[in-house]
Amino acid sequence: MAETYKVVILGSGPAGLTAALYAARANLSPVVVDGGQPGGQLTITTDVENYPGFPDGVMGPEMVELFRKQAERFGTRFVSSEVTGVDLSRRPFRLDTASGEPILAETLVIATGASAKLLDIESEANLMGFGVSACATCDGFFFKGKDVLVVGGGDTAMEEANYLTRFATRVRVVHRRDQLRASKIMQDRALKNPKIEFVWNAVIEKIHGEKGSGVTGVTLRDTETGNTSELQTEGVFIAIGHEPNTAIFRGKLDMDERGYILTDAKTTRTNVEGVFACGDVQDPTYRQAVTAAGTGCMAAIDAERFLEAHE
Ligand code: NDP
Repeated sequence: MAETYKVVILGSGPAGLTAALYAARANLSPVVVDGGQPGGQLTITTDVENYPGFPDGVMGPEMVELFRKQAERFGTRFVSSEVTGVDLSRRPFRLDTASGEPILAETLVIATGASAKLLDIESEANLMGFGVSACATCDGFFFKGKDVLVVGGGDTAMEEANYLTRFATRVRVVHRRDQLRASKIMQDRALKNPKIEFVWNAVIEKIHGEKGSGVTGVTLRDTETGNTSELQTEGVFIAIGHEPNTAIFRGKLDMDERGYILTDAKTTRTNVEGVFACGDVQDPTYRQAVTAAGTGCMAAIDAERFLEAHE
């Protein structure tokens, strides 16, 4: 018979690890299932300069390591696996894991985060990591002195484009409309940057290149006329937003139309009693390490109060 834990936390980014820290300090012996990308999106970031308490900045992976150590110090246990299915119809909740052993949980904290959205074309998948990237901060350095494209028209695309001008000679933003979705301040910054150009009303149909030699260009389709054209470039950064990692909860928890888990106003409670959600998995708006950590803290306190009330 599988062991039942008081608090099981899915995900090991700032939300999950802060929930673990608080639950451990409340003597709840939490278990963290660290998921397919232990540490989450911070592990693919370089400098984090906006997390309070680090006046000189900190590298993303180092920060995750510090969070993890702190949670471990108070007795958090880690399971290196992924949850493949959940039964939330009764308590304890049952979690099926990739390693085979199911886990039973009196309360569940979902901190599975979000992942970058992709264009979903074959050439993108083939060349990912070979000139195609979804993270300028991770890979920008490799494009020193090169010409690159950024796909998207939101804040992420503007931020990535600006960041890439530190390395690239020219950054062209390819957007499917002729108006940006990004906030005014981010738009202005990009529009004023002499290294950034815009290709309006265009989508990428195919990325050309070889794994050995990298990207050589793209085929663009004009979204107004349908005409196609070729563009030479050496790198393609996809920056079209993120999607929450909630596939296993579909039909089991209330979500918005984009798949973000819905929580009660001002708490981390979901529509299932005893299930809480924190971090990017329930936050399409702020998506910051510090806000994720904040809601992770809230989830642990909510779980603790729930357990107290049900004991
Ligand atoms: P958004 O959803 O805001 O923007 C996504 C962009 O990608 C849109 O311009 C969209 O086009 C385009 N797009 C989406 N799918 C495709 C596709 N399949 N092919 C081509 N283009 C596509 O996502 P962001 O990640 O930019 O931002 C998410 C949230 O995070 C926002 O609230 C943003 O403000 C915030 N954020 C804030 C930052 C900051 O303040 N520093 C930095 C980054 C994000 P269309 O416009 O036509 O829909």
